[in-house]
Amino acid sequence: MDYGKVIQNIYEDLKSCWGKGKVADYIPALAKVDPRQYGIAIETLDGQSFQVGDAEVCFSIQSISKVFSLAMVTRHMGDQIWKYVGREPSGNPFNSLVQLEYEQGIPRNPFINAGALVVTDRLMTLYDHPKDAILEFVRSICGNDDIYYDKNIARSERTHADRNMALGYLMKSFGNMENDIEAVIDVYCHQCAIAMSCRDLSKAFLFLANHGLNPINQEQILSVSQAKRLGALMLTCGFYDESGDFAFRAGLPGKSGVGGGVAAYIPGNLAITVWSPELNRHGNSYIGMETLEHFTTDISNSIF
Ligand code: GLU
Repeated sequence: MDYGKVIQNIYEDLKSCWGKGKVADYIPALAKVDPRQYGIAIETLDGQSFQVGDAEVCFSIQSISKVFSLAMVTRHMGDQIWKYVGREPSGNPFNSLVQLEYEQGIPRNPFINAGALVVTDRLMTLYDHPKDAILEFVRSICGNDDIYYDKNIARSERTHADRNMALGYLMKSFGNMENDIEAVIDVYCHQCAIAMSCRDLSKAFLFLANHGLNPINQEQILSVSQAKRLGALMLTCGFYDESGDFAFRAGLPGKSGVGGGVAAYIPGNLAITVWSPELNRHGNSYIGMETLEHFTTDISNSIF
C-alpha cells in the first residue's frame, strides 16, 4: 500500500476545506495560531514513515495528552483508576458540568475534561514531580527528547481556566480530588500545552497500535489487555459528543484536541496523525475528521 500517495491525494482534495471550521478562541494563545495549516503523518509498525504538508510543525496537543496521562496512571494503578472515573461515553461537550452534579462527582470517562482532571490528580499523588514525569514519558514513547511544554499556551490556558477550576472544585466537594485544585489545574494546563508535530504524535501512538509494546525501544508500556482497553475508550469517548460519528465515519480508535490535532491508529499496522487548527462545532478538527474518514475509505481498512 502506497500510503504516501494516498495521503498526498487526500491533502490536495481537502485543502479546499480551509475556512469551514473555526480556530479555538477560548484559550487566547490558541486563537493566534495561523488557521491555514494542515499536516498528515503516518508511522507504520514495519518502520515506514510518510508525511505531507505541515507534518513537522509543532502544535499544541491539548486533549490528546489525556491518552498519555491515562496510560501513565494505568501503569501504576491498573483497574484501581476506575474507582475515580467511569468509562462510558458522555454525549456531552468536553467541558460540561451538568452530568457531574447528577453523577456525584464521578466523571463519565477519562477523556472529558472532568475525567482528565481526576487522572491528573492521581498522577500528582503518584509522582513528586508530575510535570517532569509527563514530559519524560512522552519523550520516551516517541523517542524525541526535544518535546517541550509551550509555556505561552500553558499560561494562557491557566489564566482562562475558570470552567476547569469549577469542575475541579465540584469534584473535590464530592471527595473525588485529593490534591490542591490550583496545583492540579496547573499540571493539567501544562500537559495540554505539550508541543508536538504530527510525526512525533504518530510515533507516540505506535505502542498502542502494537498492543502496548513500544516498537521504538521495545518497552512494554501497557499490557495487551490495558492497551485494548485504552483503544476501546478512544473509540467510544475520544471525540466528545462526536465520538459515535467518528467511529461511524473513520472506524478507528483515536483522540482529538482543541489545538486541531487528531491521532488515531489501526491495531497491528500503523498510527496516523492529522493536524489542522480549524475546529467543527464539537471542538474537533474539521479537516482532521474528514481526512481520517477519507483515509480508511481509500485504503479499505479500519478496525471493522
Ligand atoms: N485544554 C483544553 C481544555 O481543558 C483541552 C480541551 C480539548 O483539547 O478538547 O479546555
